[in-house]
Amino acid sequence: MTQSLSEYRERYRREVIPENYRGVAHLCFTFGTGLAVVVYCLLQLTRVQPLEWLTLPLTFLYANLAEYLGHRFAMHRPVRGLKILFERHAGQHHRFFSHRDMELETLRDLRVVLFPPVLMVFFVVVFAFPVGILLTWLFAENVGFLFVATAVAYFLNYELFHLAYHMPADSWFGRRRLVAVLRGLHTNHHDVRLMSRWNFNITYPICDAAFGSFYKTGGKS
Ligand SMILES: [Zn+2]
Ligand SMILES: [Zn+2]
Repeated sequence: MTQSLSEYRERYRREVIPENYRGVAHLCFTFGTGLAVVVYCLLQLTRVQPLEWLTLPLTFLYANLAEYLGHRFAMHRPVRGLKILFERHAGQHHRFFSHRDMELETLRDLRVVLFPPVLMVFFVVVFAFPVGILLTWLFAENVGFLFVATAVAYFLNYELFHLAYHMPADSWFGRRRLVAVLRGLHTNHHDVRLMSRWNFNITYPICDAAFGSFYKTGGKS
């Protein structure tokens, strides 16, 4: 690790991460709250019709597009009203992890990987619930609940995979073939020469392939 990177990390831990921050609590909030919402929505389903199941793949694709656009634009360019995403991602996350140093070192470093709880609540309340209510109104209650369940499950998938890319590559989860391949793509994205142009999907590179921003090499260069 270069001296400037290690100095940045030390400064970030000292000046940005609140003293009372607990990585494990952050992890529990993200996955505990997210799973609770998913389970609650699934328990509300009643006699789902064959066509209603289409909500799952359609929401998956919608979430993949939202991930792509959100990362490509709001997280890599300052957008009015969403500047906090740009500052946290381009300003902090990309400085904290270079393509040569992708691993976090302590549980406190989870602060720079996971979305803060307030943003997670914002996403669910502002993006997931209103669309779920609209779909319920337009189609059926099952469609609304399936939408919210899939959207929140996708968000958890995002957090889990992104966390895996910044954990030691030789962990059990990190060695899974899919995670290893996707980590290579995200590692390329962390190269400052590539980050504004390539690999904006954090999970499955569907939109990257569709919009011509898919970049694959062996990972570290
Ligand atoms: Zn990252
Ligand atoms: Zn990025």
